Amino acid sequence: MVVGYAENYIIQGFNVLKPEQSVSVMRAFDLESEVFIEEITTDVFEEVLFNLEALEETETAITSSRRLEQGYLKKNLFGKRIIGSCACCKKEYPVSYLITAHIKKRAFCQPHEKRDLNVVMPMCRLGCDELFEKGYISVLDGLFVDMLKTPNSVELQNFINEVSGNTCEYYKEETQSYFEWHYDHHQ
Ligand SMILES: [Zn+2]
Repeated sequence: MVVGYAENYIIQGFNVLKPEQSVSVMRAFDLESEVFIEEITTDVFEEVLFNLEALEETETAITSSRRLEQGYLKKNLFGKRIIGSCACCKKEYPVSYLITAHIKKRAFCQPHEKRDLNVVMPMCRLGCDELFEKGYISVLDGLFVDMLKTPNSVELQNFINEVSGNTCEYYKEETQSYFEWHYDHHQ
């Protein structure tokens, strides 16, 4: 496709873009569609496939390592129990419905914090984990609080009202800094 030509430039043909250029142009102009077909040489196609295969291998390795990490943290939270309770709504659910949720977002954790078994707490998949993850609720001085985040709706607010004011039994000396991080991060 043709990109970045001067006003007096006479179009005589296609300037074929490198794949990474094409991707940025397609993003910028939202050209990704069934109709738009990129001019790609067989060589570039081969190169792209080669790169993708390498990336997919790395991705698989990361995914399975993450699963093991999660499994370790989860085992520490629940042991051999098959039913557990959500740290926020206090309701009991099968362990498969409870997320081993990072209080301080994992991506922001220092290496020693990732190793700290206190960095996680159980949060149900039926709403609490999602609200905490998105910062609609947080914990302040040991209590779940409404962060007054928008957009909101009556139904969502009803859910938040139900859990606001609940005590968080995972709030303690060892976890205080993680909860403070979460509250500040979503302020
Ligand atoms: Zn819950």
